[in-house]
Amino acid sequence: MPATLVAPHAPIVALVEELSSWERAVALYASDMPTAYRSQGREDSNLLGWIKQGVARLGRDETRRQASYLAGYRRVWLRELVTPEIARRHSERFPSARRLNTAEDKAATSIMSLARVTPAARSLPVVIDGACPTCDGAGKLWGTWIIDAEADWSETGYRPCWLCQDGGAA
Ligand SMILES: [Zn+2]
Repeated sequence: MPATLVAPHAPIVALVEELSSWERAVALYASDMPTAYRSQGREDSNLLGWIKQGVARLGRDETRRQASYLAGYRRVWLRELVTPEIARRHSERFPSARRLNTAEDKAATSIMSLARVTPAARSLPVVIDGACPTCDGAGKLWGTWIIDAEADWSETGYRPCWLCQDGGAA
């Protein structure tokens, strides 16, 4: 008899509602969803099926890991700070930019019209896969920070990097 009992089949994912938009995009990318897929209106249950399929293929942890990297990539990309290293790792993970666009678009559709996101799903950490373009991975920036402009009060020192250490939530 084993000393501890381990559930042999822990549920892979309970509900699509527990997945953030980033996780849904990663799952759709890994699913059988056609890259040129067009949504079938507001009640498109195909999307929910593909999201579940993608999570089942990747596993819950890998879906979350890739989603954190995707969120990190988009954060850097929005500010046009993508480095060659970050771009290379991103395109290795998601070789088809077109498919990723479809997946992100349909993930958003699933939240707007099908399955909303529970608060717990919003706690996805944002992770930049590569040296941070602004702090080079140090996680902090040296500078002179204005505390109170009117009082001419500023302090010099380290602050957490605004790009890679900013709150952590997507
Ligand atoms: Zn940084």
